[in-house]
Amino acid sequence: MDLYSGYINKLIEELSGLPGIGNKSAQRLAFHIINMPKERVERIAATMMEARSKVRYCSTCFTLTDEETCPICANVGRDHKTIMVVENARDLAAYEKTGKYTGVYHVLHGAISPMLGIGPSDIKLKELMQRLQEDVNEVIIATNSSLEGETTAMYISKLIKPTGVKVTRIASGVPVGGDLEYIDEVTLLRALEGRTEL
Ligand code: ZN
Repeated sequence: MDLYSGYINKLIEELSGLPGIGNKSAQRLAFHIINMPKERVERIAATMMEARSKVRYCSTCFTLTDEETCPICANVGRDHKTIMVVENARDLAAYEKTGKYTGVYHVLHGAISPMLGIGPSDIKLKELMQRLQEDVNEVIIATNSSLEGETTAMYISKLIKPTGVKVTRIASGVPVGGDLEYIDEVTLLRALEGRTEL
């Protein structure tokens, strides 16, 4: 039985497909949107379209950016010989927020997960190895401490070891399965400072 109009049902369905939005939230949002001034809805829709079409991956570190090269990679003041490997752009943002890390990053866009069928070729690993052909002193692996994050860390370290580049892993203390973005800056810095060589 259709309780609402077909259009509202469609809107609720689209919204509930977004991460973190359950059916109840989707309903609330849908009714909110219906009652908003039209111009406001147009602006939100246009902003979403604009972001979707203009944002892309940095050609070096693969974080999200509006430019060919992101501001971090373009910054000559940063240490380009130290590369921190993170799972996603939100983790990069978490470390950037500490303001203490002066190296550059590499965003994998995922982690190896045999269970989910995500293999090494499904993340930006080949691209990381290509970067190591330039002068690199250290690769800091800052993947999550989840099973997938640890699997990825081990895989990367085995891959890099033969190249002679130093590979380190951030200290645990970051809760298991915890998303880096939810961890406070002090804990992140402690994990970074306490990193050990693999
Ligand atoms: Zn970049």
